[in-house]
Amino acid sequence: MSFAGIDCVLCGQRPSLPRGDRTQSLWVMDEDFVGASLTVSDPLLDTRVPACLRCSTALSDRFERAARPAVEDLWQGQLRLRPPEARAFVMWVLKTWMLTAHPAARRSDPGSSVVRFDLSEVPDEIYGWLAEAKPPPPGLSVWATRRASTTVDGDARYRIPLPTITADGRTTRFQAFASRLDLQDTGGLDVELVYHPGWKIEHPLERDGRAARLWPRDGRRVLDIGALPLLESRELSWARGPRLVFAPTTYRRHAREPLSAATSFSFFPPFPPGVTAVFAPGE
Ligand SMILES: [Zn+2]
Repeated sequence: MSFAGIDCVLCGQRPSLPRGDRTQSLWVMDEDFVGASLTVSDPLLDTRVPACLRCSTALSDRFERAARPAVEDLWQGQLRLRPPEARAFVMWVLKTWMLTAHPAARRSDPGSSVVRFDLSEVPDEIYGWLAEAKPPPPGLSVWATRRASTTVDGDARYRIPLPTITADGRTTRFQAFASRLDLQDTGGLDVELVYHPGWKIEHPLERDGRAARLWPRDGRRVLDIGALPLLESRELSWARGPRLVFAPTTYRRHAREPLSAATSFSFFPPFPPGVTAVFAPGE
């Protein structure tokens, strides 16, 4: 795998290092930390993105160093993070999942196939903040649920459609990326990153305390992963919804019901407030 001749996905100005950067480097700084349990089947271990030396250093300074004590605590089964640790952990998760979702990310395992973000319908720049000491852009949410390592992926009980929004001359596709953080003896964290600018989401498991919202969250609060129950199976999936066309200036102005497991879009009126037409995904 070589990123020679490809631009850095963060600054877009400098050429990538030939091997780019790992989407996380916590398990590379100290091999002992890994133990024997992480395998190459873990996408967090060997996913790389095109990144230049300067941005790669900025990521490591800003996210990896700060989060390491928190992630080590989680690995040792200490699942209650005090506010400073929780803040560092949450930012590391946001950074790591965003990079792993980037369409230019690659795994060394050629057999792996991962559906990543499609940025062709994301008009806002959502990656530059990572290397520039800026806050994350609006429209990103992250949730985590706990699940025992032995469970398998089955049909989810809840399904939330993520539409594409055409409004005021711009088309923005909502999308989700899920990946798992293995916590060894205490199971794993299924982490879902969702991009949905301008439309709230009501997560069915957050409502009853079975999922934790990692982002956005109040950084003054403790994050107690241990308080989440271990789920028996994957309960929520995200589906590609239709494209909704909004009348001028209505998208930002109208209040709408949050997207939820109860949301269903119809190709026939009545449409949600402000919507003038509904098209099948990709149309
Ligand atoms: Zn760069």
